Amino acid sequence: MNPTNDHLSIVIPVYNEEAGITETIDVLENYIANRLETYELIFINDGSTDNSAKLIRAASERNANVKLIELSRNFGHQIAITAGLRYASGDAVVVMAADLQDPPAVIPAMIDKWRAGYQVVYGKRVSRAGDSLIQRFMAASFYRIFRAITNINAPLDTGDFRLMDKQVVRELRKMDEPDPFIRGMVSWVGFKQTSVTYERQERQRGSSKAQRKGMFRLAVDGITSFSALPLKLPAWLGGLSMLIGLGYLIGAAFTGLTTLKFLVFALFFLTGTILVSLGIAGAYLFRIFNAAKQRPLYVVAKASGFSSKQQSVLT
Ligand code: UDP
Repeated sequence: MNPTNDHLSIVIPVYNEEAGITETIDVLENYIANRLETYELIFINDGSTDNSAKLIRAASERNANVKLIELSRNFGHQIAITAGLRYASGDAVVVMAADLQDPPAVIPAMIDKWRAGYQVVYGKRVSRAGDSLIQRFMAASFYRIFRAITNINAPLDTGDFRLMDKQVVRELRKMDEPDPFIRGMVSWVGFKQTSVTYERQERQRGSSKAQRKGMFRLAVDGITSFSALPLKLPAWLGGLSMLIGLGYLIGAAFTGLTTLKFLVFALFFLTGTILVSLGIAGAYLFRIFNAAKQRPLYVVAKASGFSSKQQSVLT
């Protein structure tokens, strides 16, 4: 790949990564500086309680391409990425983790596909080194369930490691969702999308911040922000319950209707009515939920390394 005039932004959320952050910056600097004329590494410090921010700030003083956004507390990595996307000025933007688990060696292949006309190039893992069987099972089930119950054709076995054209990033910025699920949002936005495959590395340093609870929350966020199915489910169950009740009543009419049989019918029918009403309330709730996007996603305490032009656009 020859250096060109394309400007690349790399967005990296950081939460307590002091053990490996300097190496990540070095690898990325060496790796990208030779391949692209202009680039920026945007680190979003998501309320780290260690020295991550200090180390990034030191790198930013050495290299003007290294930029740092410091959120005022830990907002979670989906929101940290959202903040980074808002600040990214590249023609293409790559999102990756701070721990080199997403190999920078894949970025040139992503850029090639982007130059060939794809607006989204996501990294597709062919292995999940370091993940336990149960983690692999959970991840595999989640992606399949997500696809089955939403209208979103989210690619299987991908994380947040991806390259996006600035046009896609512009659309994502407009979405401004309260519980962003970037993978789903990128699929929702559309455009020409493709993948490059890679072996997911084991974490070299530091520890995974993705706790089971966090993964579960992400799964719930993903499903509830893209599917109305959980809200509609009571209506379907209620309808079924009413049908069973009616079927039972018809059967009972032939074999002799007793008070007990009538009570069984009433139980099914009334439960069904209540569930259907819940489902209807759910449908309204979903509309309110969709409309309620007023809250700012995060608060930036400080942003360093940006030009005054960039700053004025952002504040
Ligand atoms: N991260 C973050 N805020 C958080 C948790 C994680 O910014 O609350 C960052 C973390 O530093 C890393 C990326 O998000 O750069 C992915 O997190 P992690 O590696 O823990 O997830 P895993 O790769 O283990 O699924």
